[in-house]
Amino acid sequence: MAGIYLHIPFCKSKCHYCNFFSLASQKLKVPFLPALEREIDLTREYLGGETVQTIYFGGGTPSLYSPMALQGLMERVTSPPGPSPGGYTSPPDPSPAGEGRIVRPADMEITIELNPEDVTEEYVAGLRKTWFNRFSLGVQSFDDGDLRTLNRAHSAAQSMRAVTLLKEAGYGNISIDLIYGIPGSESSGWEKNLEIAFSLGVPHISAYALTVEARTPLAWMIERKKSAPVSDELQEKQFRTLVERTKANGYLQYEISNFCKPGHHAIHNTNYWNGVPYLGLGPSAHSYDGRSRRWNISSLSGYITAISKGEPVFESEQLTPDQRYNEYVMTSLRTMWGCNGKKIIFDFGITIYDLFKKGIMPMIGQGWVTKKEEVYYLTDEGKLFADRVASALFITG
Ligand code: SF4
Repeated sequence: MAGIYLHIPFCKSKCHYCNFFSLASQKLKVPFLPALEREIDLTREYLGGETVQTIYFGGGTPSLYSPMALQGLMERVTSPPGPSPGGYTSPPDPSPAGEGRIVRPADMEITIELNPEDVTEEYVAGLRKTWFNRFSLGVQSFDDGDLRTLNRAHSAAQSMRAVTLLKEAGYGNISIDLIYGIPGSESSGWEKNLEIAFSLGVPHISAYALTVEARTPLAWMIERKKSAPVSDELQEKQFRTLVERTKANGYLQYEISNFCKPGHHAIHNTNYWNGVPYLGLGPSAHSYDGRSRRWNISSLSGYITAISKGEPVFESEQLTPDQRYNEYVMTSLRTMWGCNGKKIIFDFGITIYDLFKKGIMPMIGQGWVTKKEEVYYLTDEGKLFADRVASALFITG
């Protein structure tokens, strides 16, 4: 099995905390689509014939394109290679579903990230003619004050309306992103955010601690005391509330930042954590084939120029066994499936497992890790120190 990620690098405006590769200028929005289609054709061999189980449109803001334009990309990704190697043919005719349209491959999870302000009745009607079956809304907060602090382009009311419109259209697989630890936010405000999420009945919540990335407006504002700093105590308090409230409302914490009702975990993201290969398309997108990683150039004009010459520009690295072990420990410990000692022995050898055990014993003593039949799991307390636990187990040098 494999996944495909398509990176759409445009946004209406830049959020203050964001360090993803995306541009507020949409000058290259039109030439970007044929470039992406061309990259799809140029990279068909990357996954070595693996069955594609998931497709994920992220960004940036995929919902800046019409549903039909995105459907064209999906059909391109899933169609057999074109008639002329490296050639570019027109996207499929955007006729309504059922009129000669290729049918979505069975059991495929196809996700689109949506910004709430783009989710209008008309846009949802457009989505109904596409293969998308999972919707990830960039809500971040249901508090307009928080949204202003983050410089988001939408309001809390637009987020609630977006969920309602998607549900009215019959979609059940809806996820919302929330951010905690926002400067100036109150614990009561965070609890209210969660209560609204529960009352909307969304089956999946991704909740992240606000991170102050270098060279972002947020970092600049904190440095110049124009914004309160991000407080570790507030983040810890809000994380504890998150874990407690989601559990009480029937959500499984299947990864440190991801919570779902049974059966609603994100297959695409879970596959990342399980080391399943994926192909990333678009500027800055990363790919993984099981042995090496590669990442596309983080320049939109550079990307378009290179692709139009048929020469994608990317950097790559071959992963060493130590790197693969470190990645396995770091990602598996974050999930509810835990870090499997037998897998470590099988993939990396008994000597590495002995080192792992030596490192993890003090964590068990500390109450941060628990063990059941050679599988190690973070406790609720340990989830607060996940990075510290993982780095104590890393092989370095
Ligand atoms: S919408 Fe997302 S990608 Fe765009 S600026 Fe905001 S956080 Fe970054």
